[in-house]
Amino acid sequence: MARVALVTGGSRGIGEAISIALKDRGYTVAANYAGNEKKAEEFTKKTGIATYKFDVGDFSACEEGIKKITAELGPVEVLVNNAGITRDTTINRMDVGQWEDVIRTNLTSCFNLSRLVIEHMREVGFGRIINIGSINGQAGQYGQVNYAAAKSGIHGFTKALAQEGAGKGITVNAIAPGYIDTEMVRAVPENVLEKIIAKIPVKRLGKPEEIAEGVCFLASDNSGFITGSTLSINGGQHMY
Ligand code: NDP
Repeated sequence: MARVALVTGGSRGIGEAISIALKDRGYTVAANYAGNEKKAEEFTKKTGIATYKFDVGDFSACEEGIKKITAELGPVEVLVNNAGITRDTTINRMDVGQWEDVIRTNLTSCFNLSRLVIEHMREVGFGRIINIGSINGQAGQYGQVNYAAAKSGIHGFTKALAQEGAGKGITVNAIAPGYIDTEMVRAVPENVLEKIIAKIPVKRLGKPEEIAEGVCFLASDNSGFITGSTLSINGGQHMY
C-alpha cells in the first residue's frame, strides 16, 4: 500500500510543489493549510490531493488534524514540516506577537507534528521526517531575528531527533532553501530582490520544484542511511 505523506503548508508555494512531486512518486498525500480556502480548493481541483485545514502551531488542532488524516488516508509515514511565515522587522520594532507567531508556526509546529506521528513510525520501524529550514537560519538575516531563530532551531531539532529515530528506521533531515520564487519572496521589494539575485551565483531564484526534488530524495525508502543532514538548495549562495 502507498505510504501516506503529510505536507504542512502543502497547498501553495514550495509546499504545493512538494505535494505534487510526492503524489507523482506514488505517495498518498495529505496537504495541510492554514486558512486560504480559495487556494486550497483550486489546489485540490487541479491535483486531486486532499487538503486538511489546521494551525500547525496549535498542538490540539494538530492532534485533530492527524486523527482525521489517519482515519481518511492512513497513518502518516512521511512528514514534511514545510509551513512557515515571516513577520520581518528589526528587533527594536518587533513586538512579542511577531516573535511568538514565527516561533510557533515555524518551529513549535515541528515538535507538534513530529510528536504526533512518531509513535506510529516507531511501531512500524519506518519513518521519514523532513523539515524545511532556510538559508537565513544558517547565515542570519537583517530584520529576521524571529525567523532566523526559528529556522536555526529547526536544524538543531533535526539533529537531535535524528539521533532518537536512528535505531527505529526513522530518518530526520532538513532542507535549507535559498531564495525560491513564491509569494513569500515576491513580497520582498523589487529593488531588494534584485540585489539578492545579484548575490546568487546561479543568478536566479530557485523554483519550488527544485526543493520538491530534494524532499523526494530524502523521503525515499532508499535513503535510509541519510539522517541528521541538512541539504542546502540555494544556487550556491551560502556554501555551508
Ligand atoms: P508561502 O507563503 O508561499 O506558503 C506558506 C504555506 O504555509 C501556505 O500553504 C500556508 O497556508 C501555510 N501556513 C502558514 N501558516 C500556517 C499555519 N499556522 N498552519 C498551517 N499552515 C500554515 O511559503 P513558501 O512556499 O515560500 O515557504 C514554504 C517554506 O519554505 C516555509 O517554511 C519557508 O520559511 C521556507 N522557505 C522559503 C523560502 C523562499 O524563498 N520562499 C526560502 C527559505 C525557506 P495558507 O495557504 O492557508 O495561508
